[in-house]
Amino acid sequence: MKKLFGTFGVRRLANQELNPEFASKLAAAYGTLVQGKVAVGGDTRTSTSMIKHAVISGLLSSGCDVVDLGILPTPGVQYAARNYFDGGVIITASHNPPQYNGIKFVDEDGIGIPDVMEEKIEDMFFNENPKRVAWDEIGEVTINDRIVEEYQQEALKRVDQEVIKKAGLKIVVDCGSGAACFTAPYIFRKLGCDVLTLNCQPDGFFPGRDPEPIKENLKELIEVVKATGADLGVAHDGDADRTICIDENGEFVLGDKTFALVERQMLQENNGGLVVTTVATSKAIYDVANANNGEVIATAVGDLLVARKLKEEDGLFGGEENGGLIFPDFVYGRDAALSAAKIIEIMAKEDKPLSKLVSELPVYYSEKMKIKCPDDLKKEVMDKIAEEIDNDPQGYELDTTDGVKIFTEDGWVIIRPSGTEPIFRCFSESDSQDKASKMAQWGISLVEKYLK
Ligand code: MG
Repeated sequence: MKKLFGTFGVRRLANQELNPEFASKLAAAYGTLVQGKVAVGGDTRTSTSMIKHAVISGLLSSGCDVVDLGILPTPGVQYAARNYFDGGVIITASHNPPQYNGIKFVDEDGIGIPDVMEEKIEDMFFNENPKRVAWDEIGEVTINDRIVEEYQQEALKRVDQEVIKKAGLKIVVDCGSGAACFTAPYIFRKLGCDVLTLNCQPDGFFPGRDPEPIKENLKELIEVVKATGADLGVAHDGDADRTICIDENGEFVLGDKTFALVERQMLQENNGGLVVTTVATSKAIYDVANANNGEVIATAVGDLLVARKLKEEDGLFGGEENGGLIFPDFVYGRDAALSAAKIIEIMAKEDKPLSKLVSELPVYYSEKMKIKCPDDLKKEVMDKIAEEIDNDPQGYELDTTDGVKIFTEDGWVIIRPSGTEPIFRCFSESDSQDKASKMAQWGISLVEKYLK
């Protein structure tokens, strides 16, 4: 059982548990395993600089050389690690409130490190000690502030800049005062868009809005899109690996819609290909693949697992239902910059407003619920549900990649144990809201039955 790491890295209250001593020792443990040249970057949080310097000290003390990339999006560090370094460390708490921070470790491909490596780091952290090299083997630090520019150029190369420039779209971008401030407005300007900025001053207090790009936090962006008659509103999370869109009418667009839209474009441009997603994603992703010569593989939930599968299978494109899209020829992780550029490219190429593009996609209805369950009972409850469904005379199809996913003639429901909380999450999808709600209820009732 991992003690420190969550699904991707360590996330804690800054300068309490995640203080300089903690960060330095953890980084030294990672450095002990890497023994090479490591890129370090982070977001705009008030604690990022402090933690970054502690991480750098730990890496140097284990004998690694360090290149400090400054403030940049998580995918920017992943891009750099993949192209130039033996590993990477990102200081960020993504979409969490400002008092939090975190440390993410990536490998030489820029993919989040595997569980076995996290376990080794924890073991070194708690039991043995990280390697501390002799005085004449301590690493060196250099600064590279040009990666942020190169990362933008590489994203721009992957879209049709001329078509986008001709379209002359008006875009409101809300960076939430996070790392996207250093990339997103510049990318849109280079694409010839008329750019209006909101919360694009880097500020670790996040004065304008909470860094999570959910509808409740984007009221201002919605208002500004409407008031200025913009074609599109774009919002990023704190470390700029997720892109959420507001259409020209000020409507919030769900992440799985933009996922399906970009998927269709990627498949059409490449005459088909392999798409990787998670078992919690909409059937729309499968419909779009079927109609466009694509194939879909679903992994357990987690962007790391999607990225790793894309590399293993040499896949074309991947993503999650929350607006995190992965372009494996660019970055092996969710990337917000290219996601936004691709969406603009689709609007320009098809010469249609976003609302129209979204309305052309397959429509499904979903429901999300949760139910409390003590951690030590989770496995037993899941096994019993799987056994019941397996023996059911209705012959439902079952997928146990992550939790229990049950397919019926009305759609599907997935019952998944949370990795961080004592709860089960229950998602369902169907062709009507009523059916989706009933299926989610059924999933909850199955958990209740075996909790007794
Ligand atoms: Mg993020």
